[in-house]
Parts: sequence; structure tokens; C-alpha cells
Amino acid sequence: DALANKIAAGEVVERPSSVVKELMENSIDAGSSVVNVELREAGLEYIRIADNGKGMEKEDAVRAFQRHATSKIRDERDLFHVKTLGFRGEALASIAAVSKLSVKTSTGDTSGISLYLEGGEVRNHEASDARQGTEIKVEELFFNTPARLKYMKTIHTELGHVTDVVNRMALANPHVKVSLEHQGKTLFQTSGRGDQLQVLSQIYGSNVARKMKRTSAEDKDFKLEMLIGRPEITRASRAYMSLIVNGRFIRNPKLVQAILKGYDTLLPLGKYPVALINIDMDPSLLDVNVHPAKLEVRFSKEQELFELIQNTIKQAFREETL
Ligand code: ADP
Ligand code: MG
Repeated sequence: DALANKIAAGEVVERPSSVVKELMENSIDAGSSVVNVELREAGLEYIRIADNGKGMEKEDAVRAFQRHATSKIRDERDLFHVKTLGFRGEALASIAAVSKLSVKTSTGDTSGISLYLEGGEVRNHEASDARQGTEIKVEELFFNTPARLKYMKTIHTELGHVTDVVNRMALANPHVKVSLEHQGKTLFQTSGRGDQLQVLSQIYGSNVARKMKRTSAEDKDFKLEMLIGRPEITRASRAYMSLIVNGRFIRNPKLVQAILKGYDTLLPLGKYPVALINIDMDPSLLDVNVHPAKLEVRFSKEQELFELIQNTIKQAFREETL
């Protein structure tokens, strides 16, 4: 019902960047190779996400806006074997509950469907063309939750959050061609050719990208592919360390410590490295169901992973000084 959706929305949809994150995750889960993001007023006025993924059947498109309407898990145990980015079936219902939302989707087989919803209620639906993929427009975010709207920061701040989200999604999905446009101006664009170093270069600049070292490691539980910045390009913030687990961008303070301990004395006081750690592992050793935003992740063999990261970084720079 409308109230439950509004309450859930409070958890899932904090600001424009949360909308962008959830919609991009859905696009990627749908197997898209192209995802375009367009904004006006940092997304407070208008967000458009268009993809070329598998699209939705008409009935599924209507159902997708009901709460807990996920096509991605069938029972609770599946929660611990999550491969897709989304799995709670909350995002679309929550976003729709607090905006004016249009969706156009097609599986490419027959004509598609377009729906218009206000505050989560379907106001209009009609047939649309059969171009495969999904386009979602979110207008007047928080129009019916003025208290939330009041907490929005400046356009500059909100755009910063959206940029972070788009950057992370692009880094974690280098095979997807991602673009971000704001007020008609392209801010960011990747090639989709699968080169993470190239994406890194788009985000941090070629001077940083040139100073990254590739290294990898593997044990019985984890496979690591890393891009680690040479000590001479350290930064004054921890924000340049990225962790990606099974294609999902995550946060984990313990593993950040593992990176720092890997560099150890190579880091000047108050300086942090640029580093991108890709971890491939059996998803059953992972609990992603910690927070609705799905950024915090727990590992059941955390100490083993900690040591593997730390030792691999140590080794990479030791080889160099020999
Ligand atoms: P979840 O991602 O947790 O399943 P969502 O509310 O984000 O829940 O989406 C609900 C459902 O709508 C998804 O399970 C999926 O079947 C469908 N869906 C959403 N976005 C897309 C998209 N861009 N392309 C294809 N299907 C989509
Ligand atoms: Mg989702």
C-alpha cells in the first residue's frame, strides 16, 4: 500500500544518487551493455536512465512497481547466494512512491509498454515501441515528502553524490558503456571495452592511471585482481581505495586496513593510496544483506582475505625494490 511504500522509500531513497544507484543496478542486472544517465538539477528535478538490457514483459512491468516484487530470488536461502545486484524487490516501488515516474520497456519481441505513476499509483499506461531495453524517468523527486526534500543539499553536493555512484558502477562494470549527462553536458563516459585502468583514468586522470601497478593473487577461497597506485601518488583521503566483490562495489573498513597495512611504511603520515581491489569469491562466504543500501558487506573468512590483500600488496612493491 501507499503508506508502506513511502516508509520503505525513506530507507532506500535518501537522495537523487540513491535513485541513480538502484536504477543502474537494475540495468546491469538486466544484462545491459549500455547505460545512459541524464540529470537536471543534479537529479532533483529529472533523472533518466536508459539501457539496452533484456527489458520487461508488460505484466512484469506493472508488477515490478509492487513492493517485494523481485524476479531475482525465490526463497530466503537465496539471499546468501546473491549474484545479482538487486534482490529485495524494493527499489522501484520505493522510488515510484516518492516521485512522478515514467517507464518504457520492451523485451524486443513485441510492442513494449509505457507506464506513468504518481506517488506509486499507475495513472496511465499504453503500448510503446519494441526497441529492446528499459527507460525510466524520475521527475520531481520527493514532491510528496516535503520533509525529505528539505534535507537536500546544494546542487553541487547532490551532483557529487551522483557522480560517485556513476563512477563506482563504471569501475565495477568496465564491460558496460556508461555515460553521465547533466543539464545537457556530458560529464563522464566510458568505452565499455572492459579495461578498468581506462575507467580509472577517466575518473582520476591519466597522471594517476599511469602510476598504477597490476597485481593478482589467489588462494582456495579468493581470487584477487588489483590495481595499486605507486606510493608517490598517495592522496589525502581514503576515498581513492575501492573494493569490488563479485562485480559489486562494497565498503568494508577492515579490508581498507588490509590495504594500508600492505603499503605500511611506504605511506607518508596522513596519506592514503589509490587502489582498486577486485575480489572474486563464492557468494555463500558473503553476507550482503546487512544494509538496505547494500554497500556494507560481511565476510565469513575475513582474516584470510585480510592477509591475502596485505601480503599481495607488500609483495608487489618488494619485487620492485629488488
Ligand atoms: P530488485 O532489483 O531487488 O529485484 P527492483 O524494485 O529494483 O527490485 O526491481 C523489481 C524488478 O523489476 C526486478 O526484479 C526486475 O525483474 C525488474 N526490472 C527493474 N528494472 C529493470 C530493467 N532496467 N530492465 C529489466 N528489468 C528490470
Ligand atoms: Mg533493483
